[in-house]
Amino acid sequence: MKAGTIIPKQKGSFKIMEVEAPEISENEVLVKVNMLGLDGTDKELGEGLYGEAPAGSEYLIPGHESIGTVEKVGSAVNGISTGDIVVATVRRPDDCINCKSGESDMCIKGDYLERGIKGEHGYMAEYYKEKQEYLVKIPKEISEVAVMLEPFSIAEKAVKQVLEAQKRMVWQPKSAVVLGTGTVGLFAAMILRLNGMDVVSVDRTATNTIKDRIYAEMGIKHINSNDVPIEKLPDELGKRIDIAVELTGSPKAVARALNVPSINGVLCLLSVTGESYSESIDIGRLNYNMVLGNKLILGSVNSNISHFIKGAQDMAAIESQHPGLLKTMITRKIRLEDFSYEMLNDREQIKNVIIMG
Ligand SMILES: [Zn+2]
Repeated sequence: MKAGTIIPKQKGSFKIMEVEAPEISENEVLVKVNMLGLDGTDKELGEGLYGEAPAGSEYLIPGHESIGTVEKVGSAVNGISTGDIVVATVRRPDDCINCKSGESDMCIKGDYLERGIKGEHGYMAEYYKEKQEYLVKIPKEISEVAVMLEPFSIAEKAVKQVLEAQKRMVWQPKSAVVLGTGTVGLFAAMILRLNGMDVVSVDRTATNTIKDRIYAEMGIKHINSNDVPIEKLPDELGKRIDIAVELTGSPKAVARALNVPSINGVLCLLSVTGESYSESIDIGRLNYNMVLGNKLILGSVNSNISHFIKGAQDMAAIESQHPGLLKTMITRKIRLEDFSYEMLNDREQIKNVIIMG
């Protein structure tokens, strides 16, 4: 079968190769890949910044966001049939207590593998095989958009973490601010709206046709941080901010966001910031506000299958309330033969998707 391949940590090594098609055992499922989504991790894999080939292989089949159709099921597989639409999760557990409890996203050991990233082939191929426990069945209504379920699940986990953590008190959140409007940021804003919150999305863009349509249809307010600096948001909005979600990727924005949540509020940090950045922060004031305001700052990364399952339900809810809206986020569709990693440098795109099938 045809597959895209890279030599990990070698920039410009991408090529399409003929590789052996997977053979399933009795507890595995063979999936024909329909679509493959690409994100910042793929961009960095293409740049040779990280990545790890499976043991014994010289190359890695990348791609961790996918949707496919079940082609064949092993004799011991139950509840998944030929023709079902499925999305596979990414992380594969090690033997730590969290991984063994189904929370590989909370792994404390770090020996997990990740399909398409670290030690396991991904989905940039005509077919892949997988155990049933890592597959999520997708309702037909979202089969065009659930290629984005993996990034959606990251936002889903973050919101769940916030809601779970806040069970520490009587809490009726009404308002949320989402800093950053990349794919996960838009999803976080949408999920918070589904949870009935007033949501403000903040970024540095004046206008963007696709994002503006999402804001308008879902009732999300947009603020340009060039007009209203992040630290001025509480004054500008003139109301309590119960939840702030930060995913700009900018440590400078993180510093500004520290004082955004109101009393009893939460700041959820989702940016994976690489660059080193330092500035003088008034720790005395931050501590004073956090202690006297019972505030919480929490970090969240990755997701597990429960967030994929909840994500599929929420995507279906958005699709039924706003038909066709999620689809507008897939701004570029290309064939594998036409794909190059350089395409991922185009910051105008929201979601790049390769049509595999
Ligand atoms: Zn683990």
